[in-house]
Amino acid sequence: MSRSVLVTGGNRGIGLAIARAFADAGDQVAVTYRSGEPPAGFLGVKCDITDAEQVDLAFKEVEEKQGPVEVLVCNAGVTKDQLLMRMSEDDFGSVIDTNLTGAFRVVKRANRAMLRARKGRVVLISSVVGLLGSAGQANYAASKAGLVGFARSLARELGSRNITFNVVAPGFVDTDMTKVLSEEQRAGIVAQVPLGRYAEPKEIAATVRFLASDDASYITGAVIPVDGGLGMGH
Ligand code: NDP
Repeated sequence: MSRSVLVTGGNRGIGLAIARAFADAGDQVAVTYRSGEPPAGFLGVKCDITDAEQVDLAFKEVEEKQGPVEVLVCNAGVTKDQLLMRMSEDDFGSVIDTNLTGAFRVVKRANRAMLRARKGRVVLISSVVGLLGSAGQANYAASKAGLVGFARSLARELGSRNITFNVVAPGFVDTDMTKVLSEEQRAGIVAQVPLGRYAEPKEIAATVRFLASDDASYITGAVIPVDGGLGMGH
């Protein structure tokens, strides 16, 4: 059965791979984008998730064009890496505002229709560094760890309404976000990954799709690592 899916930041990188995975399975997929043109084959809704009004308008458009959101993937995220002593309050706050509060805005808006339908699937994209920590990424790691507490609280709050909340924690994935790393940094990371390579975006997408499928009907509040073994034990 075709469902109404919304992927934030589904216009590129991991989000686009997630959007493709759902579309390939026959779902109707909307993706948010902030500028330029959205990718072909999806309902593109312009939306900056730091603005609650834009989030509301985006949901209205999705509801009109493909129905209330049944599967929500909170994927949009940013980094502003800096060592603590050089990290400004804005560097910290803006990353939290996008990665954590942004997810709050989107989940809260999606929840309205999910409560009414008495079903829903929410998948939040965290990161291995949320649990492992990462020097120079205190803001990012805090935002990604925050998503775990957020999802697990909602799994408890809304489980009786048949809404599941799960977290996917990718390791290093080949996208624009990691292109900024130097060759030396990349080699250092790969050396710590048991599988000895970066992930492809579609490898993250496959897990997200599973968590939103009927096969995952009894999974909620889970944190699923898709990290080549990098975070084992955490
Ligand atoms: P990219 O930098 O390639 O893409 C980021 C996406 O987030 C873009 O679609 C971007 O939209 C969107 N976005 C950023 N800020 C906002 C905002 N305020 N409102 C709406 N959309 C926004 O990143 P990845 O694809 O690599 O990452 C996707 C997710 O996966 C992120 O949450 C990231 O933290 C997480 N992740 C990534 C890993 C990696 O190694 N790449 C590892 C672990 C987790 P726009 O095009 O408009 O900028």
